[in-house]
Amino acid sequence: MKIVNLTPHDIVVIAEDGSEIRRYPASGQVARAKTETVVVGEIDGVPVTRQAFGDVQGLPDPQPDTLYIVSMVVGQALGGSRTDVLGPDTSPAGAVRDAEGRIIGTRRLVAYADVVEVPRGCNCGSGHPATLCPGNPETGSDYCG
Ligand SMILES: [Zn+2]
Repeated sequence: MKIVNLTPHDIVVIAEDGSEIRRYPASGQVARAKTETVVVGEIDGVPVTRQAFGDVQGLPDPQPDTLYIVSMVVGQALGGSRTDVLGPDTSPAGAVRDAEGRIIGTRRLVAYADVVEVPRGCNCGSGHPATLCPGNPETGSDYCG
């Protein structure tokens, strides 16, 4: 299985004892999502806003045997639509910080859908993932091969 880091930074997973479990180097390709702050009203004299997410750019279509690591903003912008995408847990329980409070790693990864699925390849040998296969209308198979 291939895990491609689409954030600008190496993602380091650190165990409770401080040892490095995994390091996913930045791939050089970065997935991004635009956010926009929308004012939705005013409560008790205080403006209330919400974050609206724009389209995600730089995230490849699902590939056989491949998972992607993205930033939290990108993960949230996907709205649960991708089961092959993970992110570093930067919550207080997940982030590992140095003495100055800078995040140096994470304890775990987070999913942005209800399940994590490593896409399988189609049996036709074309290299497209089974999830994107057009299927075979003659046999009714999910696979085109
Ligand atoms: Zn196919």
